[in-house]
Amino acid sequence: MALYDESDVKTFLYGKGEDPMQQLWNDFESRLKKLKTIRYASSIMEWDAQTGAPKSGMEPRAEALGYMSELYYGIMAAKESGEQLAALELKKDQLNELQLAMLKKFKREYDSVTKIPENEYIEFTMLVSKASNVWEDAKKDSDFALFAPYLEQIVDFIRKFADYRGYTDHPYNTFLDDYEPGMTVAKLDVFFDQLRKGIVPLVKAISEKGNAIRTDFLQREFPIEQQKAYSKYLLDHMGFNLEKGMIAESVHPFMMGIDPDDIRLTSRYYIDNVVSSLFSTAHEGGHAIYEQNCDKAITGFYMAEGVSSGIHESQSRLYENSFIRSRSFWEGHYDVFRTFFPEQTADVTFDEFFRAVNASSRTLIRIESDELTYSLHIMLRYEIEKGLMEKTIKVSDLPELWNRKMEEYLGITPPNDGVGVLQDTHWSCGLFGYFPTYALGNAYAAQVLQAMNKDLDVEGALKKGDFNSLKGWLGERIHKYGSVKTPDELMVIATGETLNPDYYVKYLQDKFTALYDL
Ligand code: ZN
Repeated sequence: MALYDESDVKTFLYGKGEDPMQQLWNDFESRLKKLKTIRYASSIMEWDAQTGAPKSGMEPRAEALGYMSELYYGIMAAKESGEQLAALELKKDQLNELQLAMLKKFKREYDSVTKIPENEYIEFTMLVSKASNVWEDAKKDSDFALFAPYLEQIVDFIRKFADYRGYTDHPYNTFLDDYEPGMTVAKLDVFFDQLRKGIVPLVKAISEKGNAIRTDFLQREFPIEQQKAYSKYLLDHMGFNLEKGMIAESVHPFMMGIDPDDIRLTSRYYIDNVVSSLFSTAHEGGHAIYEQNCDKAITGFYMAEGVSSGIHESQSRLYENSFIRSRSFWEGHYDVFRTFFPEQTADVTFDEFFRAVNASSRTLIRIESDELTYSLHIMLRYEIEKGLMEKTIKVSDLPELWNRKMEEYLGITPPNDGVGVLQDTHWSCGLFGYFPTYALGNAYAAQVLQAMNKDLDVEGALKKGDFNSLKGWLGERIHKYGSVKTPDELMVIATGETLNPDYYVKYLQDKFTALYDL
C-alpha cells in the first residue's frame, strides 16, 4: 500500500511556500539534522564509556543512551518521515546525485526500522541482550548446549525479519546489503570459491615446508609509554591530522568518525606484544584517514563517512597490511622505529623485523589470525550463516560442522567449542551478514593496491615515507566521495572494474611465496 496517493502528495508539495520542492527538501534536511545531532550526542557518550569513563557511572549513562535511541527511533520512524520519503521519491528527477544518495541511505534505514513489527523488534532486543550474557558463560565453559536454544531463537527472528523486509533471491541478501550495499549470495559464492582455490593450498604448502621465521624478539618488553609515543608518531607520519582528531586507549581498538573535523581512534598496549599496538594503530589509522579525507561539502546527514563496511575495511587493511607491513616501508623506516626502542631492537635487522611481523601461523582464533589465513576464517562463517538462513544447516550441527571446516581450510581442529564455534560475539548480538565484509575489505585492498601501482611508485613512496602521495591518490578516488558512490561505483572509479578477487589471491601468493621461499 502506498503511504501517500498522488493528490495527497500534491497538497503536500504545493501547499507550502513558493518553491514547494525546495520547501520539501528543507523539511527533509532538517529531519536529517536532528537525527545527526542525536547520533552526535550518543557517539560522544559511547566514546566516553569506552575510553576511561568510570564504570560506576554505567547506569545513568545507559539510561541516557537509551533515551537518545528512543528519540532517534521516534524521528526516524515518524509518519512524517514516510510522507517526506514518498513525496521526494516521486520527485526524484529533480534531485542531484548527493540528494539522491541521501534519500537512498535514509530509505534503507527507514525500511529496516519500520518494516519489522515493533513488538517483535522489542522482543528481539531483549533476546539478544540476554543471549549475549549466556554466550559469555557458554564460551567460558565451552558449553555450546547452553547457548544453542538462544541461537535458535535468534536465527528464527533473523529469518522472519528477512521476510518482513523483503528480499530478492536469498533471505541472506537483506543482511549482506545492510553492510555492503549491492552484495549478494550469488556474488559471494563465486568470491569465496576463488579464495578457497587460491589460499587453502598456499597455507598447506607453508605448513609442509616448515620454514620457521624468527619472532622471539617481538615478545620483549617494549615500554608502554614508548609504544604510545610511537603510535602518535606513526599516525602523524601516515597522514592522519592529529589537530582534527585524537587517539586514546581501549580494550578493543576502534575508530569513531564524529565529523571529518573530529575523528577519533583508539589503540591498545601490551608490554610484551608491541605488534598489537603497532598494527592496531595502523589499522584504525587507515579507517580514520578515510573519514578525515571525506569532502567537507557532503557532511549533510551521514554522507561524509565510509560507504560500506567492506570499503571501510579495505582502507584499514591497505594501511595496516599493504603499507605498514611492507618490506619497502620497513626498509626506509626501521631506523626511526629503532630510535623509539633501541635496546629491544639492538640485535634485530630490518629484514628480520619485516619477516617477523609478517610471519604466518595457523590459529584457531579469528582475531589473532594473520594476513594469509584471515579470510579463511571468514569463509567458514559465511558458509554457516548462509546455511542457517536457507535452513540447510541446523544450529545443533554447528560444533561438528565448525570443526570439520577448520580442519579442511586450515588443517587444525579446535580442542573445545570455546575456541571454536563459540569464539565470536556477533551471533549472540543478532549480527548476521557482517562477517563477509572483512574478507571483502582484504580483497578490495589488494585490487586498489594494484591500481595504485599503475599510477604511482608505491614502493618508492613507502621507502621514502611519502604518505602524502598515497593519501592523495586514495582521497581523489575513494575518500572524498564518502557515502555518495556505491561500493561498485567506487571500485570502478579507483580500479576500472568491480570487485575481482584475482588480485587478492595473487597478492597473497606473491607475498608469501617470497617470504617462505616456496
Ligand atoms: Zn577495521
